[in-house]
Amino acid sequence: MRQRVLIVGGGIIGLSSALAAAERGMEVTVIDRISPHGDNCSLGNSGMVVPSHFIPLAAPGVISQGLHWLRDPESPFYIQPRVSWDLMQWGLRFYLATHVQQVEAGSQLLRDMNLASRELYLQWQDKGIDSQLVKRGLLMLCSTQHGLEEEGAIATKARSLGIPASVLTPEETASLDPNVTYSVAGSVYYPKDCHLDPMRLMSSLRSRLESLGVKLLYREHVTGWKKTGGRIAAVCTKDHEFDADEFVLCGGIWSDGLVRELKLRLPMQPGKGYSLTVPDPVELPSVCSILVEAKVAVTPMGQSLRFGGTMQLGELNQAIDPRRVSGIIKNIPRYMPRFKPQHFDGLQPWCGLRPVSPDGLPFIGRTQAYANLTVATGHAMMGISLGPITGQLVSEVLRGEKPSIDLRHLSPDRFANS
Ligand SMILES: Cc1cc2nc3c(=O)[nH]c(=O)nc-3n(C[C@H](O)[C@H](O)[C@H](O)COP(=O)(O)OP(=O)(O)OC[C@H]3O[C@@H](n4cnc5c(N)ncnc54)[C@H](O)[C@@H]3O)c2cc1C
Repeated sequence: MRQRVLIVGGGIIGLSSALAAAERGMEVTVIDRISPHGDNCSLGNSGMVVPSHFIPLAAPGVISQGLHWLRDPESPFYIQPRVSWDLMQWGLRFYLATHVQQVEAGSQLLRDMNLASRELYLQWQDKGIDSQLVKRGLLMLCSTQHGLEEEGAIATKARSLGIPASVLTPEETASLDPNVTYSVAGSVYYPKDCHLDPMRLMSSLRSRLESLGVKLLYREHVTGWKKTGGRIAAVCTKDHEFDADEFVLCGGIWSDGLVRELKLRLPMQPGKGYSLTVPDPVELPSVCSILVEAKVAVTPMGQSLRFGGTMQLGELNQAIDPRRVSGIIKNIPRYMPRFKPQHFDGLQPWCGLRPVSPDGLPFIGRTQAYANLTVATGHAMMGISLGPITGQLVSEVLRGEKPSIDLRHLSPDRFANS
């Protein structure tokens, strides 16, 4: 009999898991509380597939830089001040994870996952999953010499890990994308990075899943679980109960709240980010880029151009803070002088909540407490990049196979005793 799999959450991680499981012959159902055209973090993001992002978020120097930014209401990083034991505990775990050895192990893991995921995106393309994938690389654009030196050091590290990267002069940067006027001290070019249109990706993935017989059920809000002797028996929504042989939790930032009833914890903070999509930009790059000092991502999507940024930690809501949006807009002309703040007038900002774990690594694997509960979440800034490999790993776990990437450092139980 076919193994019946119930996946909670229809973001990129849930749909990637559904695809890999269905392709391996499992009978898959995905449930999500949103409507078929509803919003989640996987839709309005910057759509970058980034082997260049091999350094976990929790890395040396991040805390001092973050504290420096806290004083500026338009800065790309902010923590909502509040008395919260969860936030304090998360901060302590984040601090502990910035130790060099842990970052080193995390970097190799993220490199392997990113490169494997990129390869899977190419295979998806061959199967007709059309995400408008563009394999033209990524530019890290630096407006200052200091920024360029720091990025140059990361490029050296990238090369030592087998990720190609070259430091470019302003002239070399300009010649790589002659359609755009850049004002920069230089850049680092990562040729293996790609970009895609997340909305297209998600809708094409849904079509592919439907053609494989996967049931996609919307407006099903999970409210609880039924358990029997160390196993999950069913997931409960307001009107229904869904039983299955295996359960996979891909609920993004809401996953921690969902497992509390099971006496489990997946410590994460919501990392709110914004994007603005200019439908008819004055200049349209062909290569995606990151404005390094401003921490703004720039992605061409068809004829439009998306600008994304900001990491506002600690707020589990989708309220838009105009100061953060204005911080993104004000920084763009520093790097792309043909863009003016008025080009953004009237645009509706989108916002999404990244699921950010304390050590910058996702949670992927079975839980110890429930033999048939697998978790896949906590991808923070890299859910699009790591979606396909996460799906593959989930399907390997469900089949009881040895995972193609060592999941030790990604265990959902890794903070259980700390
Ligand atoms: C501004 C911005 C830019 C970004 N740019 C990039 C990028 O360039 N590259 C990259 O790799 N990543 C990027 N990211 C990160 C990426 O978007 C996330 O890592 C990814 O979308 C997370 O996917 P997910 O499936 O885990 O969560 P989600 O997409 O949030 O999906 C979780 C799903 O679970 C459902 N759910 C939750 N609770 C329940 C419940 N009780 N019952 C039923 N369903 C439930 C939700 O409705 C939701 O649909 C960006 C994020 C932001 C905010």
